[in-house]
Amino acid sequence: MNTRIDNVQEISHEEGLFLRQSYFDKAKRIVVKVGSAVLTDEHGIDSNVISNIARDLSFLKNSGREVLLVSSGAVAAGKRKVTITDNEKLGLVEKQALAAIGQPSLMQSYVEAFDKCEQRVAQVLLTHGDLQNRDRYLRVRNTLLALFRFDTIPILNENDTVAVEELRFGDNDTLAALIANLIDADMFICLTDVVGLYTANPQTDPAAKPVYTVREVTKEIEAMAGNVKSSLGTGGMQSKIRAAKIVATGSGSSFIGPGKKDSILQHLFSGEMIGTFFLPSAEKTKPRKQWIEHVLRPKGKLVLDKGASSAIMKRGCSLLPSGIVEVHGTFGVGDAVQCLDGDKNIIATGLINYNSSDVQRIKQHHSDDIEKILGVKDYDEIIHRDNLVIL
Ligand code: GLU
Repeated sequence: MNTRIDNVQEISHEEGLFLRQSYFDKAKRIVVKVGSAVLTDEHGIDSNVISNIARDLSFLKNSGREVLLVSSGAVAAGKRKVTITDNEKLGLVEKQALAAIGQPSLMQSYVEAFDKCEQRVAQVLLTHGDLQNRDRYLRVRNTLLALFRFDTIPILNENDTVAVEELRFGDNDTLAALIANLIDADMFICLTDVVGLYTANPQTDPAAKPVYTVREVTKEIEAMAGNVKSSLGTGGMQSKIRAAKIVATGSGSSFIGPGKKDSILQHLFSGEMIGTFFLPSAEKTKPRKQWIEHVLRPKGKLVLDKGASSAIMKRGCSLLPSGIVEVHGTFGVGDAVQCLDGDKNIIATGLINYNSSDVQRIKQHHSDDIEKILGVKDYDEIIHRDNLVIL
């Protein structure tokens, strides 16, 4: 029997194969992300790749699964349409313009390819701002689920043209992971131009081994991202592993592997050991807490004393003003802020009940004194335990 250990986390080849197959077999709702490096060649959008994706996704859909595609390639497609010299430096505005040029032809290629498979698709363009607002976040979910009911494959991309810095996801790996959690996907499949994770750089180290199964995204696994290089796209391997980590907390599994391989999804679903597979966390973070932790961007930091750190971490308590030692940043009521312990480790993130100048005034005071200090008291807690995610 083959007992080769493929993984730094002590998963034998057999166990990895078994786990992988069981997750692929039961995956009913799947988010597939395809990167620019897979979709384009030197002439622009590679129609063979698009046809391959359309066939593969239609195959999954026809086997009774719900499928959503997150596709990059708008900027890359736009670049091939205008005359720009190789050494011309493209700023954000130019990339936003190129995305506007490339997105329609990207979609046109998809519509033509999916038409051949008699599969309907829809275009959804999002900015980070659309997910940051809880109400809009839930509306995006409703729309995507309605598209599934209409037997349609939604094709998402970042709305690059309007996404200024603070509204950007930055890379589609993050967008895809957040969407996977938003729609409770069972699996996130990230198709890229690398074959998967390696224990060391395979170009320079002959002892480098492929990592087929990851039980948990640890620092060691994150460090392995540096062993593989991708040519195009924004995120690189780091953002793909971060994406797998986000999806794991929502109880989804993830796969990172070679997107140009013919019929890759059909190979995968029939049990071939390709790429790297990430198992979900044993415990699922509650949906609202996933949104607080992964979608919201912290606007400030609170440094807590020992008592408060231990009360929120070990006893599941709310954060009270008396335990706050330092306040950093400018934030308003309802913003996300990070909580740090005395050693400046981030231990929690949560939605705050007071703005930064009020927290400055009431820190290290008892909740009974809030009214005396501020003239009004809306809450005893600075962050209520229901709005606090322990990291
Ligand atoms: N939204 C970008 C595009 O369509 C791609 C971002 C990424 O590479 O992750 O070109």
